[in-house]
Amino acid sequence: MIAKQTASPNDPVAAASAAEGYFRNIYLTLKSIAIGMKITLRYCFSRSITIHYPFERLAFSPRYRGIHEFEADKCIACDQCAKACPVDCIYIDKSAPRKIDKASGKAVGGELLRYAIDYQKCMFCALCTEPCPTTCIHMGKNHDLSAYSRQDMIVEFTQLDRKGLRTPIPLWVERNAGSIPWVKAEKERLERGELATTEADIPAL
Ligand code: SF4
Ligand code: SF4
Repeated sequence: MIAKQTASPNDPVAAASAAEGYFRNIYLTLKSIAIGMKITLRYCFSRSITIHYPFERLAFSPRYRGIHEFEADKCIACDQCAKACPVDCIYIDKSAPRKIDKASGKAVGGELLRYAIDYQKCMFCALCTEPCPTTCIHMGKNHDLSAYSRQDMIVEFTQLDRKGLRTPIPLWVERNAGSIPWVKAEKERLERGELATTEADIPAL
């Protein structure tokens, strides 16, 4: 059994060390509170910004992870994204092996029969985008994919590709494009099959 060592009340060195530790703890506590309060105070006196969504557009950080955008013409159906997905929500099917044609940069070979993501399960971790050898699966900027059925939450990207789309056009975009200018512009971008910008569009505080 190891005896617990305690400072002797008559040992001046031990007493000084205990006092030093006591005051150091107080100093470190006050320092960490000051650092935290400095950040709080900065936001207290900064201009508050209220976005009148959906009438005003929301700003997203460059690495915001929204509904995927998929370039089917570059997908070689290698399954790397599906293997990386921690919740197994990517479904891929092909008729025969596919590979990238170096001249055109497009996938050739078998047909990509299915590329689907189940958004009931997807947790927007972006792990699927990391291993893709052709960089054809991206995290987009759409944040709302509300639907009326569970089946509608499974997005069939190959079917969208046949319509020239990289990502689904959400119901709210369809319904508000006629009355809200930025939503109209967003719908037109989606219809052109243009990928979302990765540039920062956050206004300064
Ligand atoms: S974002 Fe994450 S959960 Fe969603 S499909 Fe990609 S790997 Fe799977
Ligand atoms: S990793 Fe890329 S190329 Fe391979 S199946 Fe997924 S999206 Fe297609």
